[in-house]
Amino acid sequence: MTSLPINHTVLERFLRYVVIDTQSDPASPTCPSTEKQKDLGRLLARELQELGLKDAHLDEHGYVYATIPATTDKKKVPVICFCSHMDTSPDCTGENVRPQVVRNYQGGDIVLPKDRTQIIRAAEHPALADQIGNDIVTTDGTTLLGADNKAGVAEIMDAAKFLVDNAQIRHGTIKILFTPDEEIGRGVDKADLRKLGADFGYTIDGESAGHLEDETFSADGATIHIEGVSTHPGFAKGKMEHAIKIASRIIDALPKDTCSPETTEGREGFVHPTGISGTLESATIQLIMRDFTEQGLKQKAALLEDTIKEVIKDYPRSTYRLTIKEQYRNMKEVVDRHPEIVENAMEAIRRAGLKPIRSSIRGGTDGSRLSFMGLPCPNIFAGEHAFHSRLEWVSVQDMQAAVRTIVHLAMIFEERA
Ligand SMILES: [Zn+2]
Repeated sequence: MTSLPINHTVLERFLRYVVIDTQSDPASPTCPSTEKQKDLGRLLARELQELGLKDAHLDEHGYVYATIPATTDKKKVPVICFCSHMDTSPDCTGENVRPQVVRNYQGGDIVLPKDRTQIIRAAEHPALADQIGNDIVTTDGTTLLGADNKAGVAEIMDAAKFLVDNAQIRHGTIKILFTPDEEIGRGVDKADLRKLGADFGYTIDGESAGHLEDETFSADGATIHIEGVSTHPGFAKGKMEHAIKIASRIIDALPKDTCSPETTEGREGFVHPTGISGTLESATIQLIMRDFTEQGLKQKAALLEDTIKEVIKDYPRSTYRLTIKEQYRNMKEVVDRHPEIVENAMEAIRRAGLKPIRSSIRGGTDGSRLSFMGLPCPNIFAGEHAFHSRLEWVSVQDMQAAVRTIVHLAMIFEERA
């Protein structure tokens, strides 16, 4: 472990950022989906300006961009970008966040002060066992914390401050990108990658310290539209084909012991209904399909279509239409073309004093889409836990480890260029 003389500002920053409500809203058509996300964006742009990053700015869509200029003479150092999202989940309120710091945690449950029914139980949060002696930030029990992803924002800001203050540290050009609306799946809709001008990126939005995720689900959405046969119920014998009943039979015919979120883990994928609506005449089922491989996704689509065909056999005059829409793809395919992205990150985590662990995410990140837009972008830990809930927590020491990882990563790219 190479020690870095970092005078950390990550906790103060984190406490400053989480009290700003930045909840995104899936029902809003605008970008950013909520204007209040710009409150944090403006603050970050100003703080980056104050650090001396002259191009730091918040754009009209709610994205913050900044550049830390290179300190090396080497010409071939890749430009790398560190990225976090500013919004918090619509699943849990982010208004009036009141963080508390539990200093020198000694094990056991953490009861949240304002709502004592909210308890972070050691038994349910095994990651707490790694935090003995650390300082843990939680909420007062009435809101989420927003460590997802303001821990990442604060870590990138702290690392930027250290790099700016220590020009003797050699690194290439570093880009900073803070995005809105990640939690509603629109985090990169208006990201201007040409303006960003980075070769590789890293989202700082992972869970446990030491983790690097270079693989996500591949995801498709499916819609099944069913046209039944409507007749007057008093004269329907042998004629009526009820669209709602056909739709329910399709859902019921999906596998029960496998292939669903509640029966799978690890590298298994699933087919998962997310919505159903209908009348006698027609019905619609919305589903999502997830798998780590393209072939696995194809099998899920085939399974779905076979299921529909089997059910609809009993309804000879009814019809169905199955539409499948790509949502995002496993970033691994793109990231693997540049092995140094993962190798350098693993080395940076090691130099930060942690054991690097490479894993996959049963979900997507901003990085899944960025990778396919031309910016290969795995995910590095930010230390956030129990996100999207009132029990959310993060430790100060994990945030500091993420800051060290970011700084080392910048140095390693220069060193190896
Ligand atoms: Zn996140």
